[in-house]
Amino acid sequence: MSLADRPQPKPGVMDIAAYVPGRETAPGAAKVWKLSSNETPLGPSPAAVEAMRAAAEHLELYPDGSATALRDAIASAHGLNPENILCSNGSDELLGLLAHVYLNPGDEGIFTEHGFLVYRIQILANGATPVVVKEKDERADVDAILAAVTERTKIVFLANPNNPTGTYLPMDEVRRLQAGLPKHVLLVLDAAYAEYVRRNDYESGIELVSSSQNVVMTRTFSKIYGLAALRIGWMYAPAPIVDAVNRVRGPFNVNALAIAAGAAAIGDRAHVEEAVAHNDQWLSWLTGELTALGLRVTPSAGNFLLIHFPENDGRTAEQVDAFLLKRGYVLRRVAAYGFPNALRMSVGTEEANRGVVAALTDFMGG
Ligand SMILES: *Cc1c(COP(=O)(O)O)cnc(C)c1O
Repeated sequence: MSLADRPQPKPGVMDIAAYVPGRETAPGAAKVWKLSSNETPLGPSPAAVEAMRAAAEHLELYPDGSATALRDAIASAHGLNPENILCSNGSDELLGLLAHVYLNPGDEGIFTEHGFLVYRIQILANGATPVVVKEKDERADVDAILAAVTERTKIVFLANPNNPTGTYLPMDEVRRLQAGLPKHVLLVLDAAYAEYVRRNDYESGIELVSSSQNVVMTRTFSKIYGLAALRIGWMYAPAPIVDAVNRVRGPFNVNALAIAAGAAAIGDRAHVEEAVAHNDQWLSWLTGELTALGLRVTPSAGNFLLIHFPENDGRTAEQVDAFLLKRGYVLRRVAAYGFPNALRMSVGTEEANRGVVAALTDFMGG
C-alpha cells in the first residue's frame, strides 16, 4: 500500500512519542500507594465534592461556556481581573491551545533539558521544531535559553517549579529571562506547583504577566486542590492573548462539574493550608531520610522528589521500581525526562512516606 492510499497526519504528528501517564496499579500487592502523578494525599476539599454533587443534578444543561463562576472565584482568590483569566480542561489543554495559536510550521519552541514532556508534544503537534536547552545542576539556565533564541523562536515553555526535578527559578531570574526575550516571543510560565512553594525569592508569574505583553501564567486544580479527575486549568494572560485563545478553544471546554467544584475548592483556604503544611513536613522528612540512605535527592520546591540511584553498584532504577511495586509503592520512572537512573516520588500520606523509606532501606541494605 502506498502512502497516498490512506490519510496522512500532518508533519510533526508522527514524530510525537505519546505521553505515558504515571502507572496506577501494582499487580499482586495487597495495598497500593499511588505516588506516580503528584496527586495530593489529602484529596479534594469536601466543599468541592458537595458542589459537584449539586451540579450533577442538572447534567442535561450545557455548562457556562465562559466558566464565569470559576473565573470569578479564581480572580477574587488571587486579586486578579477575571477578564484576564481563561479556564481550560486541565492546564495541559492550555499548553496545547497556546502552541496552536502562536506556532506556525517551521517555527521553534524552546523548553529545557528535563522540562515537562507535554511541551515537546504540543510543539511537534503544530509542525514546529522543539529546541531543547541544557540545564545547569538540574535547573533551567536563563543564559542558555536566551542563547538558543533565533528569529524562528515563537514560544518558550518554562515549568516553575519544574516537573520532574522540583527545582525552581527565583523571580529575578525569570524577570531576566523575560527582559532578554524579543517582545514577540511568548513566555509560558507553567506554575502547576506554585501553591506548594515556600521560598521568599519565588513568584508564580502574576506580576510579570501584569507588567508585560508576552507572558502567560498557567495554573491547575490537579495538584494541591486534589481535582485531577475533573480536569481544571486556567491561565492569567494579557487581554490580546486571552482573546486569541478564546477564538480557538472548544466552546464548552470546562464542564459544569468542574466549574462548580473548582469554584468551591478555591474558596476553602483551610484545606489548601493543610495540604501545604503536610507537604512541608513530609518533603523535608523524606529528603532527610533518603539522603541518609546514601541516595541523592534533587532539592524540591514542589510536592514530589526526584531520587537518584547509584549508577555503579548494579542497582538500576528499573530494579528499584520493581522492588517497590511488589510492596505496593507506585513511583514514576523518568527515563523519558533524561533520568534513566532516577525515580520520581510524590509526597504521600505518612503511611506511604514511611513505607517507601522502609522499603528503600531494605533494598539498599540487601
Ligand atoms: C501536573 C502538571 C500540570 C497539570 O496538568 P493538568 O492538565 O492541569 O492536570 C501542568 N504542568 C506540569 C509541569 C505538571 O507537572
